[in-house]
Amino acid sequence: MNIIVAGGGIFGVTAALALRGRGHAITLVDPGLPHPLAESTDISKVVRMDYGADADYTALGEEALAGWRQWNARWSLFRDSAASARPLFHETGATFLSRVPMSGFELDSYAMLTSRGHQLERLDADAIAARFPAYRRGALVDGYFNPEGGWAESGGVVAQLGREAEGLGVTIRAAHISQIVDDGALLDDGELVRADLVVVTAGSWVPLLVPELAPVLRAVGQPVFHLRPDDPSLFEAHHFPVFGADISRTGFYGFPVNRDGIVKIANHGTGTLLPPDAPASARVVTEAQENALREMLRATFPALAAAPIVYRRLCVYCDTVDGHFWIARHPTRENLVVATGGSGHAFKFAPVLGELIAAIALGEPHPLAHKFRWRAELTEPQGVEAARHHGR
Ligand SMILES: Cc1cc2nc3c(=O)[nH]c(=O)nc-3n(C[C@H](O)[C@H](O)[C@H](O)COP(=O)(O)OP(=O)(O)OC[C@H]3O[C@@H](n4cnc5c(N)ncnc54)[C@H](O)[C@@H]3O)c2cc1C
Repeated sequence: MNIIVAGGGIFGVTAALALRGRGHAITLVDPGLPHPLAESTDISKVVRMDYGADADYTALGEEALAGWRQWNARWSLFRDSAASARPLFHETGATFLSRVPMSGFELDSYAMLTSRGHQLERLDADAIAARFPAYRRGALVDGYFNPEGGWAESGGVVAQLGREAEGLGVTIRAAHISQIVDDGALLDDGELVRADLVVVTAGSWVPLLVPELAPVLRAVGQPVFHLRPDDPSLFEAHHFPVFGADISRTGFYGFPVNRDGIVKIANHGTGTLLPPDAPASARVVTEAQENALREMLRATFPALAAAPIVYRRLCVYCDTVDGHFWIARHPTRENLVVATGGSGHAFKFAPVLGELIAAIALGEPHPLAHKFRWRAELTEPQGVEAARHHGR
């Protein structure tokens, strides 16, 4: 088939690669790949299989981790070639700690992962202080370290997969789609790009292309901060791995210092509701969000409390009402598939996402098809992903 993939974030590039791999002719359309406002475009995203009591995401996370290791192995083969690939996944491990004795997300994840045979290191206040010198003693008193997992250079991954897609014969069009029609997609300049199937992977912009989804998909802004510590050695991965700082109660999580001397900290919380077409000028971090960060740093990471913020951004989730992805064929429009709804936690699944979208797009059975089905009847909030702080 001739297939258009509308949107070149992680949903789009992985779907394009998987559908191309099945022999279809693919046109991937995005005004900029990676687009600066896209969710997928960032210096880092957490890669974890720690999903509380949710066995589906835990299993998908295990598969994805194996995929990240394979991608790294493949990319390191190209290290000196024109493809300029390099390992973009950093397996630092991840630690999920709490301010009170473990319960909820941390406890459920610990129980789920140990029951699946993963070797986790349980940590009390003394162990935390001994292992992680950047933490204020006693700020976090329980939790665990999981040696499996870490972070991926998300913008770099999208660019790399875009190059690979082009190398495999995917046509990449630097354009913006104004409308999806029965026989393809209309570009802003009025050109009709014909296709047998259109897979809409436009992230939080999806309701602009598929308006009937506006009641069930929300654009929610989340604050991201890049800090430059005076002493970056305190934040190196061996004693400052990816972390969740009582994440389901505070939303705060972060990353070890990267090669540019940056420590990124963000919030996986309630966020700020925005219109799907919010311009860059409306995507700004509020003073309250910055004050909340400073308060958390004073309480937990004293060496970062006064560190300069060298970059801040309100990055926009495409939230579904239950926190599960939306990957489904349109119930009445034969030629239309929608794959979105990352709800702030989809990037980590990149190595398995493309095949998942391709299978559902082509009408093949998939064990997660029900979880990600077209569920327009669900308009009221139904809960969130286990690590997410929902403030209710
Ligand atoms: C602050 C923040 C932190 C996050 N942290 C993590 C994390 O640590 N771990 C994790 O797993 N996930 C994380 N996520 C979630 C993850 O980034 C997303 O789930 C994922 O990147 C969504 O990808 P996407 O392809 O759906 O959307 P996007 O990456 O937003 O891509 C959508 C693309 O569609 C294009 N587009 C839009 N409209 C049109 C149009 N009309 N025509 C053509 N193209 C169009 C845009 O240009 C864009 O490139 C985070 C998200 C945010 C916002």
